[in-house]
Amino acid sequence: MPLLYVNFLSPVPRRAPFKHCFGHTIDAKRSVPFFPNKMLISLLREAVGWTGVVSSNLWKTGPRAVLSSFLPVLVYSFPSLRKVMLNHKLTGDQLEYQKLARDFAERELAPNAHKFDSSAEFPREILSRAFESGLLNTQVPEALGGLGLSTYDGAIIAEELGAGDCGIAGSAEASTFAQQFLIDFGSKEQHDEYLTPLLDQPALAGYAAGGGIKSSRVFFRREGDEYILSGRHGAIINGGVAQWYLVRAQEDRRETEGRSKGGSSADKESFSYFIVKADDDGLVFGERSALLGRRCMVATSARFEEILLPATSLLGTIGQGLEIHTRCLTKTYPLAAAGMVGVARASLEHAIKYAKERTTFGVNIGNHQAIAFMLADMAKDVEAARLLVYQAAQLADQGHVSTTEAVCAKAFAQDMVMRTTCDAVQIFGGYGFSREYPVEKLMRDAKVYQLFENTSESTKVELGRELVMSV
Ligand SMILES: Cc1cc2nc3c(=O)[nH]c(=O)nc-3n(C[C@H](O)[C@H](O)[C@H](O)COP(=O)(O)OP(=O)(O)OC[C@H]3O[C@@H](n4cnc5c(N)ncnc54)[C@H](O)[C@@H]3O)c2cc1C
Repeated sequence: MPLLYVNFLSPVPRRAPFKHCFGHTIDAKRSVPFFPNKMLISLLREAVGWTGVVSSNLWKTGPRAVLSSFLPVLVYSFPSLRKVMLNHKLTGDQLEYQKLARDFAERELAPNAHKFDSSAEFPREILSRAFESGLLNTQVPEALGGLGLSTYDGAIIAEELGAGDCGIAGSAEASTFAQQFLIDFGSKEQHDEYLTPLLDQPALAGYAAGGGIKSSRVFFRREGDEYILSGRHGAIINGGVAQWYLVRAQEDRRETEGRSKGGSSADKESFSYFIVKADDDGLVFGERSALLGRRCMVATSARFEEILLPATSLLGTIGQGLEIHTRCLTKTYPLAAAGMVGVARASLEHAIKYAKERTTFGVNIGNHQAIAFMLADMAKDVEAARLLVYQAAQLADQGHVSTTEAVCAKAFAQDMVMRTTCDAVQIFGGYGFSREYPVEKLMRDAKVYQLFENTSESTKVELGRELVMSV
């Protein structure tokens, strides 16, 4: 394993004075000299793709030397943390996507946010205009006539739409998540049947793939070449307004294993994905839920009443669900987290504006340290979440299969957006609680991010499991 040699404290450039460390050979050509003040830049340039970092400071004494020696060794020893040196500079194309999405958000989403929040009307016309602007179905491959954008590109767009109004953008977001599964694991026939029609006219997809075991449980059984789906799902965004739904189902072994058991824990890990069309017999949606936030999104429960599906509706193979889920979340989680960054950014921008306008005790409230600290915390949270999103998205685009970065991005953003929007309400004081000001809506909108696409607790469970399993 070649190691990168970094001398942190030496005042002059030095090459590695040793050939072996921790049982590994140091590649002389890659043992580059460093000035301390250029260390970081050199590290950024040199470290990508390298397999380790060691420091000659192990030979020196004192806590500073030891710390500066071991920290990089530790960081670069973890495979999942090793590829953190990524380029977050937006390309010319990405700046254009960002501008397109930002203009759309400022023109169509932000000015209508309050109206659709109050009426809870499904924003069909605005979604049609998003389709015409090219902002729906952005990840569908070019080969099918789509834009074929990367996860990183998609995240840039998702942040802008989230900052405009995550309620109106929510339908598009859920549709993108469902599509991602088909993009990555669908056959050519499934691409033609389900993805291509989404490019012909404004249309959406939905997914019934999350939810707690009790509230959402869909089973399948085989009959010859066909499958029969039964069960229910607690909440599906775009339920009743989408063209097709991606549905997660477990093999039904209740007859053979006893109804009360409802499957062993191994079964719960073993599941499959099916595509159900809106007009399939037996798909029955419940009443539309009245939501706390993102109120114009359509979310309904659904019953699957012995739906007969052809073999071609199976995504991948039987029992491949966990693999499909794991691979796809490396893309869907950063996209979801990017929307959260957008909402948090919007609340920060409102809070800064208000802190400059509102005066108490003869000064703008932004001059009070309590408010300035709150703004500073919000700003660093937004920046950190965005970087986690960019990192996870870029790694997903590079085909990196570890889910750690995606789960970190989502776990951090889920709680960050709640904190940030609550603080914005606090900065607005009593007005923050009033519907006449924009921030209470953002706080209500933010709450669902801690609940859907896995609750914050479940996301942390997922992350903990990944960390333990990767050791
Ligand atoms: C507005 C809205 C839209 C939604 N849209 C969709 C959609 O489009 N598609 C979809 O598939 N799902 C959707 N959902 C469902 C969502 O994914 C679930 O609500 C969510 O996964 C939680 O499941 P649950 O409601 O059954 O909660 P439960 O699983 O009953 O959880 C209750 C509480 O227990 C905690 N908990 C549960 N298990 C653990 C554990 N192992 N460790 C620690 N804590 C735990 C949870 O974090 C939570 O706090 C939507 C939900 C909402 C609110």
